[in-house]
Amino acid sequence: MAELQNLIEKIKSYNPEADLKLVEKAFEFASIAHLGQKRASGEPYFVHPFMTASILADYKMDPVSIVVGLLHDTVEDAGISLKEIEKEFGKEVSDLVNGITKVSLVKLKGSSEEVFVENIRKMILAMSKDLRVVIVKLADRLHNMMTIQYLPEERQIKLGKETLEIYAPLAERLGMGEIKGKLEDLSFPCVYPEEYKNLVNYSKPYFKKANEFLEKASRVVYRIMAEEGIKVRVMYRSKHLYSLWRKLQRPEINNDIDKIYDLVAMRILTETVRDCYGALGVVHGVWKPVPWIGISDFIAQPKPNGYRSIHTKVFSLHERILELQIRTFEMQEEAERGIASHWFYVETKSKKVTDEKLEKGGVFTPKKLSWVKQLVAWQKELTGSKEFVEALKFDGLASRIFVFSPKGDVFDLPFGATPVDFAYAVHTKLGDETTGAKVNGKMVGLDYKLKSGDLVEILKKEGSKPTEGWLDFVVTNMAKRNILKNARKI
Ligand code: MN
Repeated sequence: MAELQNLIEKIKSYNPEADLKLVEKAFEFASIAHLGQKRASGEPYFVHPFMTASILADYKMDPVSIVVGLLHDTVEDAGISLKEIEKEFGKEVSDLVNGITKVSLVKLKGSSEEVFVENIRKMILAMSKDLRVVIVKLADRLHNMMTIQYLPEERQIKLGKETLEIYAPLAERLGMGEIKGKLEDLSFPCVYPEEYKNLVNYSKPYFKKANEFLEKASRVVYRIMAEEGIKVRVMYRSKHLYSLWRKLQRPEINNDIDKIYDLVAMRILTETVRDCYGALGVVHGVWKPVPWIGISDFIAQPKPNGYRSIHTKVFSLHERILELQIRTFEMQEEAERGIASHWFYVETKSKKVTDEKLEKGGVFTPKKLSWVKQLVAWQKELTGSKEFVEALKFDGLASRIFVFSPKGDVFDLPFGATPVDFAYAVHTKLGDETTGAKVNGKMVGLDYKLKSGDLVEILKKEGSKPTEGWLDFVVTNMAKRNILKNARKI
């Protein structure tokens, strides 16, 4: 019970008004549901959902997300029904648990970049009813990756790949920089063990030197800011190993670590946006910006995922090139927690939008708006690249739906598609022999209109034939063609 107390305290520390009864109930419910189950590490299974919930509390998520973190494996792994979850915890919670169970079914079918981006897109569209599904899933994956050493090597490689190709990019696109970096660094040694070892050995002395240098440089920054009366906090961060490895492979870097200026970057945190620009001026007064690669102002022009900060590269002490990132405390919070930070603001601060807050550059987007905005940004990002052509081939995303097979494969179908269309999309023979269908475990008519996120199961009978009546409701050419073909044979 000490664990429960810790979790409760953690939530109270950022959300004193939170209703914690449901969290306590979920804790008890999940610990009983998983009783007797063990993780590969030999620990009781409940440690995993508990740690997932605890990570969500670190991200200052709302109580419902934390409840869902505690319950997220009870349906898939402990035989609890969604009905029961709904009865005990309400529809919001059961819908979220259901979403997570579905996401867990999405498998990586290929390894080409096109396939993975497409999978991500399908996933988010299928799940976009509530982005908290993705956030809980990321916390779940983070804990699984933290304990991956207990799994057989083959599983480690598979999970590591999946994390690098699906979950880390998901985190990045949601602006959750911290979790993205952690997921990548945990996957790196699983997928590329040799390269990982070599890089650790190669980079260690460089990191050490860079950190020592930064300590000196930060003393200078504190002094010049104090002289100008700008209140700042100086932090530094080391580049994540996986992103360092990727950067070293770029042709212009050509594995030369001396060409990487942000191995360790300095962050200057200020209270207001005005102070960000003030600090920039003060720094440039002492250390000149490097021509050509100098300044990026992501405050004036935020990145598509919402990231805001000023980046500048300067000739600092001993003419050494140093990357500086200048942002407000609030932007720092957002850069680490991304979309997760919005739930916190909504919960605790939305009623108190003051001029002072606005001056500080705080973001107060109502819950719905903020994730819709993120989705739009995401779509823009995809269509702005080579994805654009793909998207065009896609018949327009709005008119497609994404449904799951019982094995977890994702199928995209046009709007209005029915179980018969789905069956033909899986296999011609399956379409021909269809006799009935279940959607999300319930029997439905063959003319049922599928929705994104539906899990579709086809009932069939060997040798059964399609009937012409199906033509009244099917929408795909594939289904129409095959039904007609069979009709002509008769
Ligand atoms: Mn899990």
